[in-house]
Amino acid sequence: MMETSQTQNRSRSQQWFERAQQSLVEGVNSPSRGATVYTAGPIMLERGQGSHVWDADGNEYVDFMMSFGALIQGHAHPALVKTVSNAMAEGSHFAAATSAEVEAAERFRRMVPSAEVVRFTNTGSEATMLALRLARAHTGRTKFLKFEGHYHGWYDDILVASNPLPPGAVGLRSDPVKIADSSGLNRHALEDTIVVPWNDLPSLERAIQNHPGQIAAVITEGVMANMGVIPPDDGYLEGLQKLARHHGILFILDETVTGFRIAPGGCQEYYKLQPDLVSFGKALGCGLPVAAFAGRADVMSELAGGSVLHYGTHNASRIGMFAARASLRKLTRDGGAAFRYIWNLADQLAGGLTELFRRKGVPAIVQRVGPMFQIMFTERESIRDYREFCRYVDRRKYQRLSWKLFEFGVYISPAATLHSIVTVAHTADDVERTLAAMEKALDSLA
Ligand code: PMP
Repeated sequence: MMETSQTQNRSRSQQWFERAQQSLVEGVNSPSRGATVYTAGPIMLERGQGSHVWDADGNEYVDFMMSFGALIQGHAHPALVKTVSNAMAEGSHFAAATSAEVEAAERFRRMVPSAEVVRFTNTGSEATMLALRLARAHTGRTKFLKFEGHYHGWYDDILVASNPLPPGAVGLRSDPVKIADSSGLNRHALEDTIVVPWNDLPSLERAIQNHPGQIAAVITEGVMANMGVIPPDDGYLEGLQKLARHHGILFILDETVTGFRIAPGGCQEYYKLQPDLVSFGKALGCGLPVAAFAGRADVMSELAGGSVLHYGTHNASRIGMFAARASLRKLTRDGGAAFRYIWNLADQLAGGLTELFRRKGVPAIVQRVGPMFQIMFTERESIRDYREFCRYVDRRKYQRLSWKLFEFGVYISPAATLHSIVTVAHTADDVERTLAAMEKALDSLA
């Protein structure tokens, strides 16, 4: 039976966390899992099935975080468990060519419009890093352009301006602050990174004109999904594509988040785009570390013979390829019925939440694109860029809400800058439980 009381026992999670701190730095393996986000201490998750997870104390939650959206098929989908177990029994990985990677690549190409050819990696960070290296090699130019508030991974030259700042610290629109998001970065790498506000074509055009013939690529998320969920303005991405083409700049669309969630072919299909290079991750491996970059064959051919180097012991691991192949097959069944299902269910959830906020007089909105959604505490009707997010969204309040929701058996993403996701494993019953839990959480926050 689902736990819906405020007296949830988390003593075992706490004990594990104390023990974890003896062996793991800060007791975790990523700062997004530790005490800065979960100030009451992380909840140790022990089991997942379908749309639900259970913690070390046996508390049950409807899970909308879903491994930051990697689990598009939900937890422990029986067919995927079988597929992966079979692959494991025959040999999990050879670091040599396999037929499984050929079939996975064929499926990927059939689904993703711009993917003339593909290379598999293990993480989204690797995929975007390689896409940029490739763009530099192909164009012979050194600089690239990214957008403030966008995140593309955690390696040196891309790790800039991807965190929210106090409104007074973001700099001018025409000259955004280029804050490195980590110490220890190679500062020289950052010199080649140009940062521009998103959803703003004049700023983009100005930045391009200020660096004639120097920019190899512009890299963008299709939906700004590391500042909650912020959709592109109508025509923005097409405008970006046109500007890039006009100036001989490669257009890299980072679909690590949007891939295999919004439409069978990702947001390039949904927004009718033709990027030169694309990166995918998360949902591609449905829980296993599988990512990819793909695109124009003439650009990708720079990889031939290791001219642009891409190594990796674990690339295209056999178990990962089995999982990806099976999941992509499921996602294409019945003309993409899975996508219609998650869009509809997310409509119900977002509609219910919006109505609840209205009825209770809570100044909050739900921003979403398809199954990706984020609740934002704000007096505004919508948030359309990083600067508005930094200025008008109450992130602390969102964090308090997420902890309250945990107590009532709903696990949403605990960071205001991230988002939550509806998957094919969620049900109408999950939506009802979530709305009931949200009502209780709002009451107890008030
Ligand atoms: N690109 C985007 C848009 C992302 O959101 C992320 C991860 N949140 C990455 C790249 C990096 O992916 P990974 O965590 O698999 O390295």
